Amino acid sequence: MRRRNSGSGMMGWIFGIAAAGAIGFIAFSPIFERNDPVVSVSHQDYWNFQEPIHVSVEDESGLKSFKATISTDHDDWVVVDDLAMSKEKTRAFDVLPPKGRRSVEAQSVTLKIEATDNSLWGLFMGNTFSQEMTLVIDQRRPVLSVIASSYKIQKGGSAIVIFKASDPHMESLKIQTNFGKTFIAQPFYKPGYYASLLAWPVQAQSFSATVVARDKAGNETRSSVPVRLKDHAYKVSNIELSDAFLDGKIAELANVYQQTIGVDDRLEQFRIINEKVRADNEKIIHEATSKVSNAIISDFRPIPFYPLVNGQKVADFGDHRIYSYKGQENVSQAYHMGLDLASVQMGPIKSSNGGNVIFSKTNGIYGNLPIIDHGFGLYTLYGHCSEVSVQEKDRVVSQQEIAKTGMSGYAMGDHLHFGILVQGIEVRPEEWMDSKWIADNITNVIDSAKMFINQQ
Ligand SMILES: [Zn+2]
Repeated sequence: MRRRNSGSGMMGWIFGIAAAGAIGFIAFSPIFERNDPVVSVSHQDYWNFQEPIHVSVEDESGLKSFKATISTDHDDWVVVDDLAMSKEKTRAFDVLPPKGRRSVEAQSVTLKIEATDNSLWGLFMGNTFSQEMTLVIDQRRPVLSVIASSYKIQKGGSAIVIFKASDPHMESLKIQTNFGKTFIAQPFYKPGYYASLLAWPVQAQSFSATVVARDKAGNETRSSVPVRLKDHAYKVSNIELSDAFLDGKIAELANVYQQTIGVDDRLEQFRIINEKVRADNEKIIHEATSKVSNAIISDFRPIPFYPLVNGQKVADFGDHRIYSYKGQENVSQAYHMGLDLASVQMGPIKSSNGGNVIFSKTNGIYGNLPIIDHGFGLYTLYGHCSEVSVQEKDRVVSQQEIAKTGMSGYAMGDHLHFGILVQGIEVRPEEWMDSKWIADNITNVIDSAKMFINQQ
């Protein structure tokens, strides 16, 4: 008896421990997890019933089944029914109506999505996500037409496009290019009209731009910008590095920049400054100058930029500089992304056009650098300044003195590095310094677009 009693007591203990272990196992093991699959759907509220809806499902125990059903007033179509067990944590499905049924009379359809995971929770049934959503069917593409644009764009230069776009459910308006940049259009003059400055980067071999209007249902209209291309040959300079330069300016800069810490080789210091430091500095510039306001732009009429009185050109925009050292060809390369102007030492620099100071700091090889936002995606920058008299968030007026020329950063003599950017892309300053160019390519295009709009 005693033995039996003690035996059953022992058994009780073992069961107790096993039960507690099982509860602990169920509570903490991923195969008993209790979270529903997380489902995200590419469309909300609207669908064109032509393009797939992308559904992605995420679950820590993987997916056991996935089902998507489209219902109209008359039909229920199970369009995805996937029972393949999978341990993958994320799966993606495309939901499309059955072939031959992709134009519906119905105003709206219901999409039901059910997804069950591999968890053993819920008596081994798993956790199920289930949702029904109503989608308004919209098969009309946005209306889009380019109403005015610059006649031509020069390699490294700027242009403008103005277009009309409308859709009851517009989602986005973009200007895509052949070189990967997307320009952002700003509302222009009257409702339904948009405009953007464009830029052809000096390093891009060709230029093309397409306005893309997309609505929330996924309908898209594209219209290419009809601008003629004008090539421009930029200077290629072969520059021999001297020991005096490496021991002087480069050694001095290498002491300051953190990118050159621990590098003693002078040529390597030069390479890092000319390539890595330059790229880091330009990234800051590009990010600061990529923004475009979404306020309605009614007019844009800059006067020609003339930042330095009696400024003589000492280096061109777009120069491709290739360096050699003691018979070693091409030890480093760079593009010069501004126009260098020199007058007297500490010459006064003026902002010809008003704007907002969006940057006023030291920026590596650019030295002390104020950047001004003139609106409509147009920015100017002033490098190597000895003194800067404006601060970030200051508003400057036309002809205000903002800084004095100098040789801060990577500069061999007192000068101004004058840069102009369109939505983060450096462009030829000469165009914006020429009243005829501005009239022919920008303001006359704006005026003719307004005339057209007023006649509508
Ligand atoms: Zn320069």
